Amino acid sequence: MNDEKKNLRDLTLPRISRRSFLKSTGGGLLASPFFSSGTAKAQNDDFDVIVIGAGISGLAAARYLSKLDYSVVVLEASDKIGGRIKTDWTLDAPFEVGAGWIHGPDKNPISEIVTEIGAPTFRTDDENFQVFSKTGELQSRNKIIQGYKELRRLYKRIDDKYDRDQSLEEAIARTSDRGLKDPMIHWMASAYTEFSTGAPLDDLSAFFFDEDDEFWGEDVILTDGYDQVPRFVANDLDIRLNTAVETVEYEEGDGASVYTSIGVFESDFVICTVPLGVLKREVISFDPPLPKSYRSSISNIGFGDVTKLALKFEEAFWPIEIQYFGLMTETKGRWNYFLNYRTFSKENILLGLSVGDYPEVAEQMSDTDMIADCMDAVRTMFGKDAPEPTGHLATRWSQDPWTFGAYSYARVGNKPEDFNRLAKPVASTLLFAGEHTDFAYHGTTHGAYLSGIRAATVLDDELAE
Ligand SMILES: Cc1cc2nc3c(=O)[nH]c(=O)nc-3n(C[C@H](O)[C@H](O)[C@H](O)COP(=O)(O)OP(=O)(O)OC[C@H]3O[C@@H](n4cnc5c(N)ncnc54)[C@H](O)[C@@H]3O)c2cc1C
Repeated sequence: MNDEKKNLRDLTLPRISRRSFLKSTGGGLLASPFFSSGTAKAQNDDFDVIVIGAGISGLAAARYLSKLDYSVVVLEASDKIGGRIKTDWTLDAPFEVGAGWIHGPDKNPISEIVTEIGAPTFRTDDENFQVFSKTGELQSRNKIIQGYKELRRLYKRIDDKYDRDQSLEEAIARTSDRGLKDPMIHWMASAYTEFSTGAPLDDLSAFFFDEDDEFWGEDVILTDGYDQVPRFVANDLDIRLNTAVETVEYEEGDGASVYTSIGVFESDFVICTVPLGVLKREVISFDPPLPKSYRSSISNIGFGDVTKLALKFEEAFWPIEIQYFGLMTETKGRWNYFLNYRTFSKENILLGLSVGDYPEVAEQMSDTDMIADCMDAVRTMFGKDAPEPTGHLATRWSQDPWTFGAYSYARVGNKPEDFNRLAKPVASTLLFAGEHTDFAYHGTTHGAYLSGIRAATVLDDELAE
């Protein structure tokens, strides 16, 4: 322990396990959860559980444990709850900076929350789209369907054929002569696979890229904003915003000290839900260091990016009843998929997406350059007279200091166990949760939510006795 940390620790009260105290006194009343002041203040405190990160996984874990009468505090580095669920209303319509869809809403735990809130939803129609060639010719429905069938066949052949892992790009090239040289396959592999996995094809595991599980039903948009979900889950929790965790000191069987930008917090247990990008950059140091197997999972699992750019116009100059537009851009991943807001909002907004390798390029651009780059794609589809947008919003997740990317993916050489290892307690006092700790549903809000519930259950069932 360095001197600074020692000084901080000396300021704290002697450690008393609140949980064991409550258990021994049966103090149900004393154990009622703290209620959120919503403000961060420097203070030392002692809790049963510290949850690091107020994204949906951390909030789910905190809510679950609070309901079981654990005293829980959530420490959040940024000035907002929700993490990668964030809605911006600047353009008078919900711009989802992070998660935009409930993927597979049927029996999905996020849908259950939405029903409880009574939030209005819009069920999207995946069949309602148009695709344009790189020079702007509208593609026939038949050509698109043929392309889709061909890609499915290709993925199936890849599944059956190889006994060593390789990148999906390499596997496509080895399996089909035309492969990505076919512009339709090139577009679909990017707009569908690179978008859903958040990964470039040349880094994605051909073995495991599509081995995760899913819920069913066509994707749903929350027309009053996705951020209603974390707000609902956060209700009545003790959340300290602007509280960045720097060090977690944990001891087998003897609780933990969490050093933050505003002071030190003590607890019996810590659930750490910061994004994989934050773990990779070692923004938080662990003392003792994490076991080697956890460190290799953190370093091996991929963490990709997706860039969103919302462009708002005076008037719509595109067919307003079509939900998605695809553009078979020559550069893979460059503004190749668009969501038309007019199908669920009165605002004339096109939401452009860049995926695969392209976010690395797009997120280095100024807003002006990014808009020009995306408008080039828009004008290819809808004509060179398309006017300049009157408003815009852009994401740069790779530069977000509390995330450093969008979501996790199975990289070449990864196995599901790399993800699932992170779900196992590091010690009797420290666990991880977050979308990257659940192979079955990684990269999704429901995966993150379920991981929080899982961590809370393990803590209560296995560690707290
Ligand atoms: C662009 C984009 C599009 C997406 N689209 C979809 C979609 O359509 N559907 C879907 O289901 N999922 C989607 N996702 C994925 C989904 O948003 C995430 O899987 C999920 O929200 C992750 O939740 P989490 O709790 O694991 O992490 P997070 O939400 O990232 O929460 C982690 C929290 O930890 C905090 N933190 C970081 N460092 C520290 C620190 N040192 N101290 C304290 N706190 C810290 C962060 O600020 C953050 O609030 C998308 C994500 C992105 C980025």
